[in-house]
Amino acid sequence: MRLRNKPWAKEKLAQYPQYAVGNPAEHKGKWNEVFGNDNPIHIEVGTGKGQFLLGMAKQNPNINYLGIELYESVIVSALDRIIEAEVPNFKLLSVDAKDLTEYFAKGDVERVYLNFSDPWPKVRHAKRRLTYKTFLNIYEQILIDGGEIHFKTDNQGLFEYSLMSFSEYGLLLKYVSLDLHASDFEGNIMTEYEEKFSQKGSRIYRSEVKYMNEK
Ligand code: SAM
Repeated sequence: MRLRNKPWAKEKLAQYPQYAVGNPAEHKGKWNEVFGNDNPIHIEVGTGKGQFLLGMAKQNPNINYLGIELYESVIVSALDRIIEAEVPNFKLLSVDAKDLTEYFAKGDVERVYLNFSDPWPKVRHAKRRLTYKTFLNIYEQILIDGGEIHFKTDNQGLFEYSLMSFSEYGLLLKYVSLDLHASDFEGNIMTEYEEKFSQKGSRIYRSEVKYMNEK
């Protein structure tokens, strides 16, 4: 993603603590208090400008959504969408995915969405892929037992790598589509990248995987 630096982004996020959560470590183990209900929490890691989670939040009012994004200059666009739409079940967190266990306890999260994650095609950068085993371990530490990862990408190489990584980690492959938009999957909400790449004719790959640690 091309980054336009927005020096005012931090200040703007701080002005809307009801949408952009400021001190995430304080909420570890009690995120339900942040949303004011006990509905399940689904997170998108690398949420970008928030189009996907805004659609999901409107489609599923009984699920709480939290968008995780590294860059404040990017997530501030998601904040604008939330302010305009006034959705109560979509909030934002500007942190690095590698630190998620500092902010979430085991069982805080029911599902992780990964959409159009940066592919890091060079082998020497494989550890940075959000589907690398260290990230799968981080998600496991914050998900409920039997929690799921739902993953979409246009990048065939990243998709194939990720299916291998999921499988080697011992995750159950519940659903795999090699052409989401030609499949019978219902209720798909498009991300910004999904719109852009599918308009250019790219195929969209999708998978659902599940941690096999249900008691
Ligand atoms: N999910 C959006 C979509 O599908 O349109 C954005 C996709 S964009 C290619 C990937 C996003 O992931 C970028 O906004 C990037 O800043 C974010 N990202 C990459 N690594 C991250 C990390 N370690 N923690 C949080 N966000 C990350």
